[in-house]
Amino acid sequence: MKMTCYVAGTPVQSDNILTVKSPYDNRVVGTVTLSNKSDLEKAIQAALRGGKVLSRYERFHILEKTRSLLMERRDEIARIISAESGLAIREANYETGRAHDVLLFAAMESLKDDGQIFSCDISPQGKARKIFTLREPVSLVACITPFNHPLNQVVHKLAPAVAAGAPVILKPSEKTPLSALILTELLYEAGLPHYMLSTLLGPTNEIAEPLVKDPRVEVVSFTGSVAVGKHIASSVGYKRVVLELGGNDPLIIMEDADLDKAVHLAAEGAFRNSGQRCTAVKRILIHEKIKDAFLEKFVPKAKTYNCGDPADPETKVGTVIDEPAAIYLESVVKKAVEQGAKVLLGGNRKGALLEPTVIDEVPRDAEMIVKEAFGPLAPILTFKDIDDAIALSNSTAYGLSSGIVTENMDYALRFVRELKVGTVNINEVPGYRIESSPFGGVKDSGLGIKEGVIEAMKSFSYVKTFSLPW
Ligand code: NAP
Repeated sequence: MKMTCYVAGTPVQSDNILTVKSPYDNRVVGTVTLSNKSDLEKAIQAALRGGKVLSRYERFHILEKTRSLLMERRDEIARIISAESGLAIREANYETGRAHDVLLFAAMESLKDDGQIFSCDISPQGKARKIFTLREPVSLVACITPFNHPLNQVVHKLAPAVAAGAPVILKPSEKTPLSALILTELLYEAGLPHYMLSTLLGPTNEIAEPLVKDPRVEVVSFTGSVAVGKHIASSVGYKRVVLELGGNDPLIIMEDADLDKAVHLAAEGAFRNSGQRCTAVKRILIHEKIKDAFLEKFVPKAKTYNCGDPADPETKVGTVIDEPAAIYLESVVKKAVEQGAKVLLGGNRKGALLEPTVIDEVPRDAEMIVKEAFGPLAPILTFKDIDDAIALSNSTAYGLSSGIVTENMDYALRFVRELKVGTVNINEVPGYRIESSPFGGVKDSGLGIKEGVIEAMKSFSYVKTFSLPW
């Protein structure tokens, strides 16, 4: 398929073509006509020049229409997500379902008003006035997205921006640009005024870097790695920055856990989406008393996560994003083994395909534990009691999410209070959420500013107050 970047609805013209290849078999999946620095300038000017200001109903209608257009082309779009990312088709289908929900919830939110009223005659210092709040969209948002949920990461930026009425310049990942460009076209087709969205890809020093630094951009909303996120934070100057960065989330399995539940959550959390979710289970922390019983069930369960051709509906685990990523994952497994860890299952690599890998007795300072290993690895570490579990969980630089398996409410509450993370899910995977609930990490995983449809709408607007005599 031949796609092109868009400057406010106009396809860019250039000889600079990006070829998108399947990480599985290297076949050409599509091409993208890339943009350059002058396209960026045109996109900024078009956004700031503005155009038709949408009513709440019009924003609702555009989001609803986009949702129905997406559903009409659901199978085709899932195939494109799978082809460009190497994700198994069943994951790509799931992703289109999530995108549906994001659009649905954003449409619903676009109709709501979160304005507040403050009566001022409530203290001896007060008087007969009322203060009202309203939200106004910011004038321009720069959205930058990663490869790992090629459609969902993008719709989580664009749908709340449309719902809030804020114009966007989107820079999606060069590794998975096709889904982002299709969503761009669907939004235009649904009636989004063209000035409200430009989607640009091109050399980092011509598009992404100048975009985030441009003083005319009021908000930078970035999802991606810690390294790039921190680089952006240190270079953009005076503007609002929303950072959704990496994670190495634990699944903590207490000694009273329902083992079947723990096994199911560990496998789903570690291997779904090829382990490439920011909230994938990256560390399985288990009470030392039940480790053997857990592994007896977990290893056979992990075997059922077959890996292979992403287009095959029977495949559970596709590739990781590219061969270098798979080689890196292979290398961290080897390093852990050199430190005494034992591979119980998997570990073999063919190109970008890495088998779901279960590794026992992983030292607490292994690279795959202290850093983010973005792939289908399931490292097992033991703890001796809840204090040890909390300390181990909190011991890395990340703080995105967590899952706890326990039937004990006292344990559950201690984890809720004491884990330094953005989310604690009891008897669920760390990645569980609905698309409108607040989501985001602390420490190196983010600055604590949440995403999710409702919080993102707040990021893309500011509160204005006005007061009247009353
Ligand atoms: P990445 O390498 O940081 O890239 C993310 C985006 O930033 C891409 O669009 C990339 O463009 C762009 N970029 C690269 N250099 C830039 C620069 N100097 N200035 C501005 N933008 C720049 O991340 P990734 O490898 O695509 O994604 C995986 C990471 O994302 C993982 O760490 C994962 O945990 C994290 N993630 C976090 C969340 C969350 O919500 N917390 C969700 C999903 C993923 P190019 O494609 O052109 O390089």
